[in-house]
Amino acid sequence: MNIGFIGTGVMGAAIAEHFIDAGHDLTVYNRTRQKAQKLIDKGAKWAVTPKIIADRTDVIFTMVGFPKDVESVYFGANGIFAGLKPGSIVVDMTTSTPSLAIKINKEAHTHNSLALDAPVSGGDIGAQKGALTVMLGGDESAYQQLSDLFDLIGKRVNYFGAAGSGQHTKMANQIMIAGTMTGLTEMLVYAKNAKLPLDQVLATLSSGGADNWSMENYVPRILAQDYTPGFFAKHFLKDLRIALDEADKMGLDLPSTKLAKQLYETMVEQANLGDDGTQGLIKTYEKWKD
Ligand code: NAP
Repeated sequence: MNIGFIGTGVMGAAIAEHFIDAGHDLTVYNRTRQKAQKLIDKGAKWAVTPKIIADRTDVIFTMVGFPKDVESVYFGANGIFAGLKPGSIVVDMTTSTPSLAIKINKEAHTHNSLALDAPVSGGDIGAQKGALTVMLGGDESAYQQLSDLFDLIGKRVNYFGAAGSGQHTKMANQIMIAGTMTGLTEMLVYAKNAKLPLDQVLATLSSGGADNWSMENYVPRILAQDYTPGFFAKHFLKDLRIALDEADKMGLDLPSTKLAKQLYETMVEQANLGDDGTQGLIKTYEKWKD
């Protein structure tokens, strides 16, 4: 298949590599070219704008950072819609807003093309292993046409319905992760101050009712003082804001998600640690530091 890929950061580069490894023809674009170099070395072609990618490929994946990045990649003067051919499929894997997914889907239809919102979970490791969870919304026939591609990158790929429903599912996921990240952080602060051996605490909790993906993946990184992303804290704060905004539109109050958002605001905006991984939240706890 002739595939375009825009946004070759932590997640995008790992996902795109599976397409190359499976023998697909790949053309890539990223704001900073250097982050696409490994893919280019493996045979991907480079394009200088999203518009050129749209003109040269049939299926275009995007995995950029924030909704504003998605806006510019799709709707900018040199964006995808400036070059999209009829019969194309666009797939946005960025964690973004349901409303933007709907806007992209509508615009794709005016180009006689199809669109999917396809946010993922499973982190950097899941992307490298091709073991992501993919949450789809948008045109079901596009999902059917691309199911072999999704199987290359995901261990579970579920379709939820109309445009935006993939993003809503991802928000449900992030509301859950808010609890597991704050839980693992405060668990460690407590265990440390109780003077317990933290590696043994992790081994014990991992075999009991407290077991969860965040703890298994991020506690070992904290114990190794590894705060590299993984999953950027600035992106998690973006997700919590989207989730609370959507909840607000539904007339929902989610107090514990609001508290997680405040804690990540402290980390990202006051402590200036937005480029750390989400596990860096623990650095904002005084009683962890000494
Ligand atoms: P990342 O490493 O920052 O990757 C984003 C990439 O998009 C960067 O390489 C960036 O370019 C590029 N980009 C941004 N705006 C662009 C534009 N206008 N034109 C072209 N390229 C642009 O972040 P990531 O960790 O891969 O995350 C990407 C998305 O996936 C985020 O929405 C995040 O919330 C979501 N997500 C992440 C994880 C995770 O564990 N990492 C898990 C699930 C979902 P530069 O190189 O110039 O910065």
